[in-house]
Amino acid sequence: MAKLICYGGAGNTTGANFLLALSDKKILIDCGMEQGGKKAHEHNRKRFDYDPASIDILFVTHAHIDHIGLIPKLVKAGFKGQIYSTSKTKMLSEILLLDAVKIGRTDAEVLYTAEDVNRSLSLWHTLTYHKPQGFGGFALELFDAGHILGSAMLKFTFESGKTMLFSGDIGNSPSPLLPDVEMVSGLDYLLIESVYGDRNHEERALREEKFKRVVAESIARGGTLLIPAFSLERTQEILAKLDNLFESKELPAVPVYLDSPLALKITAVYERSGKFFNQTAQTELRAGDDLFKFKNLHVVDKLDHSQAIDEAKGAQIIVAGSGMSTAGRIVGHEARFLPDPRSTILFMGFQAAGTLGRQIAEGIKKVVIDDQIIEVWAKVERVDGFSGHADSDALVSFASVSEKTLQKVFVAMGEPRSSIFLAQRLHDELGLKAVVTEKGKSYEIEL
Ligand SMILES: [Zn+2]
Repeated sequence: MAKLICYGGAGNTTGANFLLALSDKKILIDCGMEQGGKKAHEHNRKRFDYDPASIDILFVTHAHIDHIGLIPKLVKAGFKGQIYSTSKTKMLSEILLLDAVKIGRTDAEVLYTAEDVNRSLSLWHTLTYHKPQGFGGFALELFDAGHILGSAMLKFTFESGKTMLFSGDIGNSPSPLLPDVEMVSGLDYLLIESVYGDRNHEERALREEKFKRVVAESIARGGTLLIPAFSLERTQEILAKLDNLFESKELPAVPVYLDSPLALKITAVYERSGKFFNQTAQTELRAGDDLFKFKNLHVVDKLDHSQAIDEAKGAQIIVAGSGMSTAGRIVGHEARFLPDPRSTILFMGFQAAGTLGRQIAEGIKKVVIDDQIIEVWAKVERVDGFSGHADSDALVSFASVSEKTLQKVFVAMGEPRSSIFLAQRLHDELGLKAVVTEKGKSYEIEL
């Protein structure tokens, strides 16, 4: 018998933190920060609900802050075990965690220091996809989650032969850059994300067309197109997409500003990661295409250059972080351009409840930025299909591969409505026993 306890990532999309207690080992899966709103701040700042010194191993699914953001806090609070992830996840985590402490983009600034990040990295080992590794009592194998570079699903095989998979975040295949999500069959237990558990994305053809239309219309109006983008994966996808549209001359080559020092560092990692991309992207690379660079792309690293963009006239595109407008340079551009009716703001990713991005995306006409009331006259557009998360149908079909063997599915990492809807679908359509996980609750796993 083992126990699964959901300390985070249950009842909401962020803050993934799951404890698997075996008879002789305590294993953590992800140690993420909650994002968005006051409750998230409280969660991130409070003591862990378990003793970090009692944890033997931490496995990390991928490098998003809501999966890694509290790792240095865990180490600071006494964790002395080993950390494991893919090599790209470790590389990206180093960049994101060091950025988090420096800039105060998140709660990290008050929770730990760069030294704690470096101590975490000294405990951090890497694993390769599809190479099972024994840990005494269980083996772990990583499968490609197709979500962001380095993202992995963790498949545990216990001594009895029973298996359990932690999905982490599951990608929205086909992705512009990454290989498709790997289907894993024969599972006994599954803990599955449910960010889009209650919704399906627009069709792929539609999302490409809509993106092109929004960009073309914005250029025709001569205004500024703001694209708040996650620095990790989404920014690289947008660059690759714009690269295609400019090179094929489908769009006039207006200035594009990549205004995110963090995205720049991450893009440099992507430029060295061709072997982890899908076949199409690898073929383009072999043909000598740079994927992430084009003539009219201007990289902005200094803040005064960032402010100078705001004075510019004529059509332009600004890609900046953070993806939910909770911090970062996009916020300054929003304050400047949202009151201008020639501007457009384009949302291409999930906007968590409580964030500025969510307010604007929902059409609120007056928002508060840096204590000032900003009126929103810009056109608000949304292309949902680019989400990095599998939609409801894709999640159901992911679980269906193990339909015959699954004893229980734990639905996590979604807002309650999404998780409940997905659990209901898994029950009704596949006949599975699916439970919606609750924060702090303990679940028995028969091994
Ligand atoms: Zn993620």
